[in-house]
Amino acid sequence: MATALTLERLNEASCDEFVALLDGVYEHSPWIAEQAWAHRPFDTLAALKYALVQVLRASDRATRIALIRAHPELAGKAMVNRSLTAESSHEQDASGLTSCTEQEFARLQQLNADYNAKFGWPFTLAVRGPRGSGLRREEIIRTFERRLQGHPDFELAECVRNVHRIAEIRLNEKFGFVPVLGNQAWDCAQLLARHSDADDGSALTVTYLTAAHRACATQLQSWMRECGFDDVRLDAVGNVVGVYKGHVATGARRARTLLTGSHYDTVRDGGKFDGRLGIFVPMICVRELHRRGERLPFDVEVVGFAEEEGQRYRATFLGSGALTGDFEPQWLDQLDAQDIAMRQAMREAGLPGTVHAIAAERRDPRDYQGFVEVHIEQGPVLNALDLPLGVVTSINGSVRYVGEVIGMASHAGTTPMDSRKDAAVAVAELALYLERRAAATPHLVGTIGILQVPNGSINVVPGRCDFSLDIRATDDATRDACTADVLAELQRICERRGVSYRVERTLCAAAAPSAPDWQARWEHAVRAVGLPVWRMPSGAGHDAMKLHEVMPQAMLFVRGLNAGISHNPLESSTNDDMQLAVEAFGHLLQQLAAHNP
Ligand SMILES: [Zn+2]
Repeated sequence: MATALTLERLNEASCDEFVALLDGVYEHSPWIAEQAWAHRPFDTLAALKYALVQVLRASDRATRIALIRAHPELAGKAMVNRSLTAESSHEQDASGLTSCTEQEFARLQQLNADYNAKFGWPFTLAVRGPRGSGLRREEIIRTFERRLQGHPDFELAECVRNVHRIAEIRLNEKFGFVPVLGNQAWDCAQLLARHSDADDGSALTVTYLTAAHRACATQLQSWMRECGFDDVRLDAVGNVVGVYKGHVATGARRARTLLTGSHYDTVRDGGKFDGRLGIFVPMICVRELHRRGERLPFDVEVVGFAEEEGQRYRATFLGSGALTGDFEPQWLDQLDAQDIAMRQAMREAGLPGTVHAIAAERRDPRDYQGFVEVHIEQGPVLNALDLPLGVVTSINGSVRYVGEVIGMASHAGTTPMDSRKDAAVAVAELALYLERRAAATPHLVGTIGILQVPNGSINVVPGRCDFSLDIRATDDATRDACTADVLAELQRICERRGVSYRVERTLCAAAAPSAPDWQARWEHAVRAVGLPVWRMPSGAGHDAMKLHEVMPQAMLFVRGLNAGISHNPLESSTNDDMQLAVEAFGHLLQQLAAHNP
């Protein structure tokens, strides 16, 4: 076996040597390595990968298409007549494409033809997949079918991203690098996803205190014990709490605990990484510390929050809310869709189900340094930037309204255009205004997600229109200014159109800006793994929002695949990205250890 490539070797290489050493990483495209050469030295493998990615980002469309065309068709002619490069042949073999059934082979041929006809370049997919161990043939075919529906611009970018993933795996092999810690995170996610409320195994749904939810809690506790946590318990609301004890020098004052974690419940038909990744990452860090026999000068408390998504009961953040003392006693009387009270669900799960027991979970913020949370981005930003990690600046403040515009239902044939009182077009006009208003300010988003004519008919001018408003921004003032403008515009639209309206605010959540020193720790950690820092707001709410009320907090985002889709079974990330998240978390722990000697 050839000796593994090292960064020292690459950093010292002449341009020609450098290109030769990276031969085969990008199919038939030595110019990529040639241009990356100037960016030496590379401190980490991640930094090298990023430099190669940057070369392609700077290239034009024709160059990218040429690179994609340099790749063989999946299960194409080159595979059949055995003229693939060694790398491609190995990959297509590993994914089992060479042993397709006749039917599968025919289907792939058809998809290849359709894809080429639609886009003008071959379908490119990293068949080794996000775990690096190979996609199954049916996964490949499903992905092919889905991507055939895409927009050409998106699909071009998606092909290039797959080229990078192929290159990443080839580089790992050249360096003899296995993302062991990322693989552990990936494998935990798969194993935990075996527990679902949907008993046919078709969808991942884990709602508060169901049998699947309790099985997840049991699994998390047993993993935490295996990882070497000293205290592992299920708390009064079903949070899984693991503490890895720090060492305290004799006579020294005990340093405060670091709190971290995320949620293990899911939405209906959700993803395997939402929330859970933020439990696995610190868990794996503790496992590494324990393996090395290393103790930090402070305790690390990892919490798997029982509930964040608000699916079974109307209460949300009840897991993190119990820690901040915000669990409202009347929540215990809430009923689920089967009329099971929360108190009863708790008792069936072996929890006390009493206000007293829950109140006792409240943490004293003075015992804690702060809270950090790792979370999959749940958005398209990092994926589009080709960046594995992002540092969160603020969790957006949000406001929601539901409302109704009341016009006059009338005959679609006989009512002249100038004498209509159309409720739906009034809302449509508002939606266009909101789109313009939000787009004009950075990090402000506004959505009318419900626009519905109750009992609407094809031949009736809409007399009523239900609508919703969802406005979010990195700070409350920006959000409130937009909200005020939108409500004023609604009034103007309705006056001009001679219709009336009512709106009701259903939610108002304050923005949770990251604590600057904690955000800086994540930034150092990201630089330490060899990546540039990308700062971004979180458009979604997270447990960190809740902890923000009582202690400093900051979050780290991990890139999601498939345009960062989340709350969807397609939600995914790679073993390499999760490896970087674990490494960054480890770095944050070392920074804190240096601060609290
Ligand atoms: Zn989440």
